[in-house]
Amino acid sequence: MQIEILTVGTELLLGYTLDTNGAELGRALAEAGVRVTRRVSVEDQAEAISAAVREALSRTGAVLTTGGLGPTADDVTKRAVAELFGMPLEFREEIWQGLVERFRRFGRTPSERNRGQAEVPRGATVLPNRWGTAPGLWLESERGLAILLPGVPGEMRALLRHEVLPRLASRAGRTVIRARTLRTFGLLESSVADRVAEVEAEVAPLSLAYLPGVHGVDLRLVAWGLPPAEAEERLARGIERLRRSLADHAYGEDDTDLAAVVLDRLRARGMRLAVAESCTGGCLGERITAIPGSSEVFVGGVIAYDNALKVSELGVSEDLLRQHGAVSEPVAQAMAEGAGRRFGVGAALAVTGIAGPSGGTPEKPVGLVYLGVWVNGDVTVARSLFPGDRREIRERAAQAALFQLFRRLERQDSQTGG
Ligand code: AMP
Ligand code: MG
Repeated sequence: MQIEILTVGTELLLGYTLDTNGAELGRALAEAGVRVTRRVSVEDQAEAISAAVREALSRTGAVLTTGGLGPTADDVTKRAVAELFGMPLEFREEIWQGLVERFRRFGRTPSERNRGQAEVPRGATVLPNRWGTAPGLWLESERGLAILLPGVPGEMRALLRHEVLPRLASRAGRTVIRARTLRTFGLLESSVADRVAEVEAEVAPLSLAYLPGVHGVDLRLVAWGLPPAEAEERLARGIERLRRSLADHAYGEDDTDLAAVVLDRLRARGMRLAVAESCTGGCLGERITAIPGSSEVFVGGVIAYDNALKVSELGVSEDLLRQHGAVSEPVAQAMAEGAGRRFGVGAALAVTGIAGPSGGTPEKPVGLVYLGVWVNGDVTVARSLFPGDRREIRERAAQAALFQLFRRLERQDSQTGG
């Protein structure tokens, strides 16, 4: 089965809202065996929507839209598509009562404006929306199939999963497009390619994509148009093969966050973690506390941005700061030690560096970062030079700090046979 995606919203064309719905739909539909052959965005304008739907139907006979189902004057998708299908809008009391009930739960009453959301094109199937006010709609006639979903990403996602994909299952093909991603850190894209060069031929017909970003290089294997079981089996073998080539540069799969991996390892050993952050200014703590359950492992830390705090809160000696400067190996070491001792933890991470854009010198350029890792009283320091702007350097530094700890723990595991 083929389908086209139409995302509706003037904000999408102005670039104020990123079309994340389009991306999510592409992924979910491919995985379900429905091929997305085109994706178009149009303004909140009835003629534009109508024309785009008509064209999509003439090519594939099926279109899925998001956006423009709200209660305001700029929400015109339903009216435009209903008109195109020749299905007049009808007020449905049960949808209205559902809306009234939903508003009541939040201590409100719907306005006259919301009444329009209870109107349904005659003959259309209503896809009930328990996550918001605008129901989805399924219109089918000799013109083809139009599926209308709300624009709010959470509502779109829920309706897609609970209402749309089950209905499409019977029409989807017997082959699917499936993908798996291996996440790596600490190697340049070209070095990753050197290591996996021969794998590429071995994993055929899977395709291999290199996706570099601030969290490292992700390797995505895609199985195109295979039966689901075969796709899964080839992907599993392919990922195993990539893991072997990349050894301890591979830290996880798909959406796995390195912070979660590190927390799991520390939890398994009964260790607690603290941080001492300078140039990352809390980015590292943010990464860690974004993981549910982090409080079992993470005690907290200090943002010791000014040298005075490096001295008072972490016990870094003033001599050391004067002699080597705040961005230096000895200071990173002293910060990690200070965090480890003062917070009484088994593991501590320290970051000190130059995020730029100013403050760099020939000896200490922008992007220079020292990462201190304390594990049970032993400190190691890594020096890195990161490319990018201020935001990227800080994000790379936080990821690199987590990676240094990940590796220390891996190495301990392999030494103790654990
Ligand atoms: P609408 O259903 O058109 O009223 O959209 C409601 C909200 O959903 C908008 O204000 C946007 O923030 C968001 N939204 C709409 N379309 C998209 C899209 N394609 N991708 C991501 N967010 C969207
Ligand atoms: Mg809109």
